[in-house]
Amino acid sequence: MAQGRAAAGAEAAADDGNAVRTLGVVGAGTMGLGIATVAARAGLEVVVLEPDAAARERAAAKLGSVRVAGEVAELAECGIVIEAAPEDLDLKRAIFAELAAVVAPDAILATNTSSLSVEALASTVPDPTRFVGLHFFNPVKAMELVEVVVGARTDDGVAARAEALARALGKTPIRVADGIGFLANRCARPYTTEGLRCAAALDLEPARVDLACRLVGFPMGPFELIDLVGADISLGVGESFFRQSFGEPRWRPHRTLVQQVASGRLGRKTGAGFYAYGDDAPGRAPDPEGGGPDLLTDAARLEELAGPEAVAVVRWITAQLVNEAAFALEEGIAAEPDIDLAMRLGYRWPVGPLEIGRRLGFTAVRHRLVGMREDYGEAYRPAPRLGDFS
Ligand code: NAD
Repeated sequence: MAQGRAAAGAEAAADDGNAVRTLGVVGAGTMGLGIATVAARAGLEVVVLEPDAAARERAAAKLGSVRVAGEVAELAECGIVIEAAPEDLDLKRAIFAELAAVVAPDAILATNTSSLSVEALASTVPDPTRFVGLHFFNPVKAMELVEVVVGARTDDGVAARAEALARALGKTPIRVADGIGFLANRCARPYTTEGLRCAAALDLEPARVDLACRLVGFPMGPFELIDLVGADISLGVGESFFRQSFGEPRWRPHRTLVQQVASGRLGRKTGAGFYAYGDDAPGRAPDPEGGGPDLLTDAARLEELAGPEAVAVVRWITAQLVNEAAFALEEGIAAEPDIDLAMRLGYRWPVGPLEIGRRLGFTAVRHRLVGMREDYGEAYRPAPRLGDFS
């Protein structure tokens, strides 16, 4: 198996007949190290470029046999280069301009960006057809999902080779279009935003919202997730979505999150967020027996286990999860089965959002959103063809 994967890895990196077997990784931070590690384990020859001397030393110690370089010229032989430098458009553009000047003209240039436009980065290289997004999830070793982000000019064969590389690394690639937040992060956005909104509108404690979500099978509730990710990071992503979309109401960051950041209670990393962390923190209450995704459509049982608020919370949040997935599907961001697969692999949801829609009935979800729109405004406008889905 390991040998088969190694051979497939070498093949994926081979460059159209030229036996280029080297993968370049730019940046030896969290993601670069993760990508280099899985690639080396899959049998690829890997060169990591890292300008910071201390980070280079740390990387060399962690990566063993992998070459860790300080100069971009050392990536000249790479058939594919994946950039995982800090999330800064100008910095990344400068990196790609330099890279394009040293690699072979037919080498594939890929970015691991999670929020910048692939097209905006592709425009810095002489041949944008060979540019693609390869969006890994953190931690790279554990997360199976890789989004292959296809820009307006990405060549189909280049996207196919990026997918082959992801598969050779033991990942499941999903092809997505270059839109705000790509696919998984976008479809996940309403989970936290609607958790915050419904808690405020229904006057519920975070723990009640989180419990309701866990009961229907989500691995953690929206408030627990914000505490894990960091309220500042979550708000930063929300602001970026809102700005890039010129003010889409669905993506307006919630005031509770803004207040949370202002208070400095950012979550686990500061020892306090919506919950307290540390040695004498109470910890999360155990879930009642009998939870699972079947409760998505069994309101009576859910109410029995956690009260009528739990039913209200699940109805609220799931309506908008289904809606966001429907918008993404209508906008051609990804194919229908891939949307559900991405959310199961990327966020460990018990079932994908379109499957949730199918179970609840898309027409019923649409009706719910029409009511929410009357009560709470344009953030709840249903995706135009939601009622036509089956
Ligand atoms: P990081 O800050 O941990 O690592 C970035 C590394 O790049 C650092 O080692 C830094 O020294 C190096 N670097 C700085 N300037 C450079 C240059 N000019 N050339 C080469 N390397 C340079 O960042 P990260 O969390 O690994 O994120 C990297 C990319 O991956 C970002 O685009 C981010 O959006 C994306 N991403 C991150 C995550 C995550 O959860 N951390 C998940 C998916 C995607």
